[in-house]
Amino acid sequence: MHRIVIVGGGAGGLELATRLGDRVGKRQDVEVLLVDRSATHVWKPLLHEVAAGSLDTHVHQIEYAAQARWHGFQFHRGAMTGLNRSSKEVLLGPVHQDSAQALEIIPARAIRYDTLVLALGSQTHFFGVDGAEQHAVTLDCLEQAEKLRKRLLHTCVRNYSRGDAAVMRNISLAIIGGGATGVELAAELRTMEKEFRLFGLHSTAKDDEIRITLLEAGPRILPALPEDVSNATTALLTKLSIEVSVGDPVTRVQPDRVQTAGGRVIEVDVTIWAAGIRAPDVLSTLDGVSVNRINQVVVSGTLQSISDENIFALGDCASCAWSDGRMVPPRAQAAHQQAMFLSRALRARLKRRPMGAFRYSDHGSLVSVGPAAAIGVVAGLATRRGMLVKGPLARLLYSALYRKHLATVSGVRRTIASMVSQRLHRRSAPRIKLH
Ligand SMILES: Cc1cc2nc3c(=O)[nH]c(=O)nc-3n(C[C@H](O)[C@H](O)[C@H](O)COP(=O)(O)OP(=O)(O)OC[C@H]3O[C@@H](n4cnc5c(N)ncnc54)[C@H](O)[C@@H]3O)c2cc1C
Repeated sequence: MHRIVIVGGGAGGLELATRLGDRVGKRQDVEVLLVDRSATHVWKPLLHEVAAGSLDTHVHQIEYAAQARWHGFQFHRGAMTGLNRSSKEVLLGPVHQDSAQALEIIPARAIRYDTLVLALGSQTHFFGVDGAEQHAVTLDCLEQAEKLRKRLLHTCVRNYSRGDAAVMRNISLAIIGGGATGVELAAELRTMEKEFRLFGLHSTAKDDEIRITLLEAGPRILPALPEDVSNATTALLTKLSIEVSVGDPVTRVQPDRVQTAGGRVIEVDVTIWAAGIRAPDVLSTLDGVSVNRINQVVVSGTLQSISDENIFALGDCASCAWSDGRMVPPRAQAAHQQAMFLSRALRARLKRRPMGAFRYSDHGSLVSVGPAAAIGVVAGLATRRGMLVKGPLARLLYSALYRKHLATVSGVRRTIASMVSQRLHRRSAPRIKLH
């Protein structure tokens, strides 16, 4: 029995487990196991919508146990805490009933593997900025997005419930990091504010608008995209009265203010850090597995660790060369392509055939700017050159990326059923969560 263990059921890991389970799950000589610290999967690019309350997580979650049952793999819950390469075991910490950790429901244990795939994604990189880790909120996982949502809601409700215009003040939010996450979140929060006003959770006076400042250290927002996309996005954000500050890095975060290198001090109610990523710390402790300076596992063209041929890595936690000295970017589309590659390569390896080499194709990038618009570049079908798209068409393409992920992991029938259920839910509930 050859056991393939995949750690991390995110954009890449869940797709790989599903693809492998569907293809080899019924065989007697292979078993596929997926490990994740959570019981459910939510596609990470949706987290800014969770934070703004515009996405109901109950409708969009996939339960790993059910997915495993339907797609021929096993699911084990637990956070990876270490690795024993000589005995080929992944070490998992105990699972507790809740974050208070009072009741242990699954003990710490070790899981044997023949082939290990690391797909642990990434977490926020604070770059050692003073106070950032202590005082800024992050968007690494569902729990954090929910925590941010509640904090924003309570900040607005507390302020508005004072009732007296004299004591009410403008709420101020700072989002640090002008990449896709920061931009998408900033625009989504403006939508959240509109709905709060509609349902009486926030003042309706124009002057009471929430102050949103997007702070980017570099010379422009969306540095990974062409300059015209960056300029057009800045214009869209300005139209939404979101202040975009560039070229002035944040040097200090305090509970009620943010300070920049240029000497600016912004008073804030909530600071959100969306400025960079690194792979989880556990990867830097793995029994001789080579990692780079941001903990990503260094892999070869077959996505095998350069330290151990039985260990593979994909997605945000893998450092994989692309072209012209560039690395494959930490994006859902890269995790998806790597999952597709590994599904074929691991099956070839079981048959002792060559695995081939992974090649990343950049199909472009889209950034949502509120519920009705998106902007970005998509690869031209004929020329493969980037083509600027914006507005509702771009938003449609953006939404299609999630539908594609759903269809890949849940199948077309379940995706259609889920879309219908989302539509019905929309008709019978407010656009955003109000509690
Ligand atoms: C708000 C936001 C918007 C984004 N928008 C886009 C976009 O529009 N387009 C795009 O291409 N990309 C986008 N991204 C990036 C994209 O989400 C990631 O690149 C992608 O999810 C990476 O996939 P992955 O499988 O490597 O990791 P993830 O999807 O992050 O999954 C990692 C999994 O590992 C699990 N895990 C972590 N640590 C452990 C552990 N110790 N033990 C067990 N399990 C563990 C986690 O629970 C999770 O399920 C966005 C990201 C964010 C935060």
